[in-house]
Amino acid sequence: MIRYALRCDQGHDFDGWFRSSDGFEAMRDAGQVGCAVCGATKVDRALMAPAISDKALTAPRNPAEAALQALRRKIETSSDYVGLSFAEEARAMHEAPGPPAPSMARPAPRMPAS
Ligand SMILES: [Zn+2]
Repeated sequence: MIRYALRCDQGHDFDGWFRSSDGFEAMRDAGQVGCAVCGATKVDRALMAPAISDKALTAPRNPAEAALQALRRKIETSSDYVGLSFAEEARAMHEAPGPPAPSMARPAPRMPAS
């Protein structure tokens, strides 16, 4: 799989994963690659900047990314990280009296089938 930085004809930047360069071109030419922001199908690969600063990698590139960043900050500042004990914490909160406190967790790694 290849990850391409893409740009639509409205100037929106987004990413896409493709099986190959030919796969990207075939999907684009068939109108199957749509802009993640406006849905435009006039899309091309964006030129990769030769030098990328840390700020360029972390700054939101469009309103959708800015909204997701704000949502993530809100969740992170208003929740307690409980890690892999999310199920136990959620069950204890469900069974405890009073309003629940927000919690967040990372998905547990899947165990191989035995
Ligand atoms: Zn667009």
